[in-house]
Amino acid sequence: MIQKGLLVVLSGPSGAGKGTVCKALLPTMSSLGYSVSCTTRQPREGEQEGVNYFFKSREQFEEMIQQDELLEWAEVYGNYYGTPLRYVEEQLAAGYNVLLEIDIQGALQVKKKYPNGVFIFLIPPSLQELKQRILGRGTETEESFKVRFGSAADEMKHINDYDYVVVNDQVDDAVDRVRSIVIAELCSVKRNREYYNNLIQEGQTDAVSFN
Ligand code: 5GP
Repeated sequence: MIQKGLLVVLSGPSGAGKGTVCKALLPTMSSLGYSVSCTTRQPREGEQEGVNYFFKSREQFEEMIQQDELLEWAEVYGNYYGTPLRYVEEQLAAGYNVLLEIDIQGALQVKKKYPNGVFIFLIPPSLQELKQRILGRGTETEESFKVRFGSAADEMKHINDYDYVVVNDQVDDAVDRVRSIVIAELCSVKRNREYYNNLIQEGQTDAVSFN
């Protein structure tokens, strides 16, 4: 095995377009596996169990928390969301790269456990645009808009906890930037130091043995 897999965390404030970027990125990166989260929210039209989310009752989710089955979890606008631990651990141990698309509270928990992951913060091009995107969903009351916009603006404070910032102005451009970051990280000497040191060692042994 060349290296253990790379953990990529795509996060950012609500309304940044994480889901859209993720959906467009995955078909273009076969080396990146998507970690399907668990949630207690109701499925939206067209969402499938095990593809978009594992849909759970609050009791089931709380049981998963009790049993330490989640790498991280958070309550986002009244629903639980969490990353199943086993999938991530197994994939990384087998050398596969894993993508998490999660909120900021979750990303901060993951960073404590996997400081070597790549943490990408996706932001909207402006606060004005963020407002438009939250309103554009058409599902907000004035109260819920205030809550979402207020917490999104507040969440921007966490930019410094991340390795990269990607501005989601055009989805295709944002996807290109995220893909470039992942590719660069996969080529990083620092990340693959052990492998390259072994290679150097092997080369030196071979150089003296001749055949
Ligand atoms: P939605 O309900 O729109 O699919 O997601 C709402 C929010 O929950 C988004 O910010 C999304 O990134 C976040 N989210 C989705 N899955 C997870 C997860 O496993 N953990 C955490 N912490 N947040 C998640």
